[in-house]
Amino acid sequence: MSVTPDWKAATQETVAHLSRLIQAETVNPPGNELPAILFIKELLEQEGFRSPDDFVILESAPNRVNLVARLRGDGSQRPLLLSGHVDVVPVEREKWSHDPFGGEVIDGEVWGRGALDMKGFLAMYLQIFLQVRRLRLPLKRDLIFAAIADEEAGFDHGSKFLVTQHRDLIDAEYGLTEGGAFTIPMGKRRIYAIQAAEKGVTWLKMTTSGKPGHASLPHDENAVFYLARAIERIRRAGHLPVHITPTFQAMIAKAAAQVGFPASLLIRSLSYPWVVSLCLKLLKGQPKSLLTALTTNTCTPTILQAGQKTNVIPAEAAVHLDCRRLPGQSPEDVMKEILSLTGAGVSFEPLDTSPGAAFPTESPLYRLLEQETRRLDPQGMVIPMMMPGATDACVYRQAGITMYGFTPGRFPEGFPVLSMAHGHDERIPISFIESGLPVLWAVVQKFCSQS
Ligand SMILES: [Zn+2]
Repeated sequence: MSVTPDWKAATQETVAHLSRLIQAETVNPPGNELPAILFIKELLEQEGFRSPDDFVILESAPNRVNLVARLRGDGSQRPLLLSGHVDVVPVEREKWSHDPFGGEVIDGEVWGRGALDMKGFLAMYLQIFLQVRRLRLPLKRDLIFAAIADEEAGFDHGSKFLVTQHRDLIDAEYGLTEGGAFTIPMGKRRIYAIQAAEKGVTWLKMTTSGKPGHASLPHDENAVFYLARAIERIRRAGHLPVHITPTFQAMIAKAAAQVGFPASLLIRSLSYPWVVSLCLKLLKGQPKSLLTALTTNTCTPTILQAGQKTNVIPAEAAVHLDCRRLPGQSPEDVMKEILSLTGAGVSFEPLDTSPGAAFPTESPLYRLLEQETRRLDPQGMVIPMMMPGATDACVYRQAGITMYGFTPGRFPEGFPVLSMAHGHDERIPISFIESGLPVLWAVVQKFCSQS
């Protein structure tokens, strides 16, 4: 059977849904996902879905809601989950050229907070979900669609709530969520990075102790000096030790296979930590930040704390460190690495920690994602990637689900995608949606359908 949706009509419909989702203000904090979820509920009901058989709405707190819908397969294989968050980060309205909650279509782009992160992608998942039902695609595994809360502020009301309290509803063999397989310009090339790993989070408070006293009688044993010295040593080192993870190894192997000699040799040489260290010394700007994130535990000082009064030398000084761990590294490993730079005299207090995740890049689903992404752009380079930040994928992993960041599409040349998520003037080109829907459809059809 080779029934395919009418992609022009499906794109127009997705745009209309996206506008409505953007108009539902779901800024987190405070969250308030309710209006977006109610819109999706109405839509599902119009399509003949009934609660609670076909979908449920799950409230974790007032106005903090999640919707989980299901299309049933014959049960011969375990489900595929399509999960997207409906909350968005705050806006600075005065910096926007158009209403961030207008959902307006201007010059072929849908404008508004969440257009990219990730209401646009969610609207695409929803469209595919609806099309599977409309075309009565016979399924060998259930297809689950989840529109969830609280990705932007800690997962508690969304994926964590579902994983801990409603695991049966989202239980799946595989899942897709934000955000990979879209065009990232890299020099003359275009990269399509499918997310197959995420870093873990370790937030630390690093404290130094000294001798308190009156500031009119200065001395060297000042906790502020000790702290400044420790921070300076971290800065001077440039980065923590390099570790080559399996995801990074797979990334460079696949990248090398898609370029000619001698670029392939250069890329392959990145499997040696000393080569990476050398590159980190030579690189600048965004490429340096990215390579640092991919190959090291990172340690970024953010909040400084010391003293109450200008004329009192404090007994203690502290800095908050936002550390991101590579998969396989523990919070203790990170503290040891930092200590080897600062030397003794600092103490650590863990503030928050969450596990990272790494998923196989040789699974049947990963291979299919890779294959279908190539259709977007025959000249593009498709590689697996580790996300430096955290998404719902690391939470779903705790329920045993193999997750990939997969929101495919082709951005027009010059579209500033990397500065736009969480930035001003967030928008998504309609041409992106039109290019991505057939890819998503092909993945779902080939992976879930019996035909
Ligand atoms: Zn997001």
